[in-house]
Amino acid sequence: MGERMSAIRTLQKYIRINTVTSSAHKGGYAEAARFLIRNYGHTGCEVKEESLTAGRPHVVFTYKGTSPHKKSVMLYSHTDVVPAPPEEWKYPPFSAHIDEEGTIFGRGVQDMKSVGIQHMEAMKELVKEGVTLDRTVHVVFMPDEENGGDFGMKLFVQKGKLKELNPAVVLDEGLASTTPVFHAYYAERTPLWVKLTAAGPSGHGSRLLEGTAMERMMKVMCHLYSFRSEEEQRMISEELHESEITSVNCTVLRGGAESGGEVAVNLIPSTVEAHVDMRVAVDRDLLSFRDEIKKLADQHGVKMEVTLGPDQHSITSTHNEWWAAFEQAAERAKIEIKPLVFAAATDSKHIRRTGVPSIGFSPISNTKVELHSANESLHRDVFQRGIEIYKAVITHLANHKDAEEVERAEAGYT
Ligand SMILES: [Zn+2]
Repeated sequence: MGERMSAIRTLQKYIRINTVTSSAHKGGYAEAARFLIRNYGHTGCEVKEESLTAGRPHVVFTYKGTSPHKKSVMLYSHTDVVPAPPEEWKYPPFSAHIDEEGTIFGRGVQDMKSVGIQHMEAMKELVKEGVTLDRTVHVVFMPDEENGGDFGMKLFVQKGKLKELNPAVVLDEGLASTTPVFHAYYAERTPLWVKLTAAGPSGHGSRLLEGTAMERMMKVMCHLYSFRSEEEQRMISEELHESEITSVNCTVLRGGAESGGEVAVNLIPSTVEAHVDMRVAVDRDLLSFRDEIKKLADQHGVKMEVTLGPDQHSITSTHNEWWAAFEQAAERAKIEIKPLVFAAATDSKHIRRTGVPSIGFSPISNTKVELHSANESLHRDVFQRGIEIYKAVITHLANHKDAEEVERAEAGYT
């Protein structure tokens, strides 16, 4: 494997642009878009930069295939990253420092700036080598994934922009694997976020008032947390992956009075508010699960509002022909892949809901999973190998004949 020094340098420069989510006002998103265009705008593609909301540009690099009427292949990465408190890091998180061993440190180096650069470098090399690609390949960069994609991929889908690109398949982000086997994600758990509000009589903390807000809330929490324990137990006893069970976490709990920094221990609060983050496993019926939680809240006189809760799971079937094509592509790239459900959420949820198959894949093996953590890092050899892997995968997917074409060919048409 030859050293791809310029690709490594480009990755470093990309990491140095601070694109922490919602940094639009600081111009990080726009700078990232300009940077990508400056680096790759001249690599035999058409470039389209557009902002669906002010200060949040996305960029589409289009490499026209020899059969542009066919459905395309879309390679997707988000440009934003999560915050990185520098005091937790060995090296400044936006310095893209490379240590003596060749490990690159930086916020976003796994999630997912390396992937974006690998997409572009792979395309750049394929064009340079004159490799023929039948289908058009779109490489899309979009901000605002880390806060749910409401101003990113969700809008892109709603405004018909995804449809315009006419993708047969999308490659989105996956996760690093700690073994030589790569992970490929076909689905993710669906979030169900609820806000619970309990109300009841207020009074002196010494009294046993009936139906206090806290009492109601705690009863609901007891049930939710015993369900949480059951799921945890099931994970252990059935040897399941975290992504295969339903998780429950009360992440915000507010109640009680305070004055001048002192908490009023002897005052029963009249209202208590809680927010619960649940991630529903794909084999659990979403609507009946939501109904159960609602019933539980009702039973204890607690009001429940759903603050985030799609009606459908978003799944790419592993029986889909493009999933099969991806498996063949992996074979061609000489890598082994393991199909999995993503434990958290990615922009694929917006894509899969339109019916377009989306596969979560980051070519990162033998690496600790460090997305969103301090000292996020990636070895440069893993990064360089990823470019090779994408070259093989893209070549295979962009030349894949779908079922319809095969049928036509067999019937004697060309
Ligand atoms: Zn990500």
